[in-house]
Amino acid sequence: MCFCHCSSTPAIAVPVTLNGYNNVTVFDIVKFDYYICYLHKDSILYMFNLILFGPPGSGKGTQSEKLIARYGLKHLSTGDLLRHEIASRTPLGQEAQRFMDKGQLVPDEVVIGMISSALESNPGARGFLFDGFPRTAAQAEALDKLLELKDTSIAVMLALDVSEEELVKRLLKRGETSGRSDDTNENVIRARITEYHNKTAAVADYYTKFDKVVLVKGEGTIDDIFAGLCQAIDQRM
Ligand code: AMP
Repeated sequence: MCFCHCSSTPAIAVPVTLNGYNNVTVFDIVKFDYYICYLHKDSILYMFNLILFGPPGSGKGTQSEKLIARYGLKHLSTGDLLRHEIASRTPLGQEAQRFMDKGQLVPDEVVIGMISSALESNPGARGFLFDGFPRTAAQAEALDKLLELKDTSIAVMLALDVSEEELVKRLLKRGETSGRSDDTNENVIRARITEYHNKTAAVADYYTKFDKVVLVKGEGTIDDIFAGLCQAIDQRM
């Protein structure tokens, strides 16, 4: 059933605040109603997209699992997608492995292509949680363009803050059970952290320009960190 009044467009536009949508106008509200009718199938207006950001070992994977369960988001981890390509022995996976084994970033065009396909494969998602992506300013710009094509955008970037020594300790511990070769060698771990500072930190600068970055304490219990993340999300929803 549809409650919209799509055909009525007011002659003047008066700025008002609609719950959760700042700076909309009366005209926008009418459009908004129209879109509710039109976009219900895809839920585009209701999409909430966030980036979980932080160095390797900052707990993005663990917290992502809890966040997607609470907020019903689709989890997109480029690390997981790349490991899947490697396990499937695809040419893309073989190419990516050469970089991953050295703790280096995989070329932008490879990961942007993967994310583009993943967005296309999930047309009904209520929103996406990007984990490990974007990792360069070029990836951030590409992501904004891809989301724009879907009439949506990044709502918030949650940046987990963890000290370097804690990261190395966590990654070596994870390497004992994860089976990930890039978690067992301390030189590779430090190379990944250096790569993060050299290239990935620029992504936070990119989103800071749009006032989208929230720093969240990434040390403490899993539940404490999760509570900090949820609080930041709820304030932006
Ligand atoms: P992660 O599981 O996110 O720690 O990623 C493991 C490795 O996959 C990284 O060290 C990179 O070599 C590669 N990787 C994952 N995501 C990206 C990305 N967005 N851009 C470039 N390389 C990536």
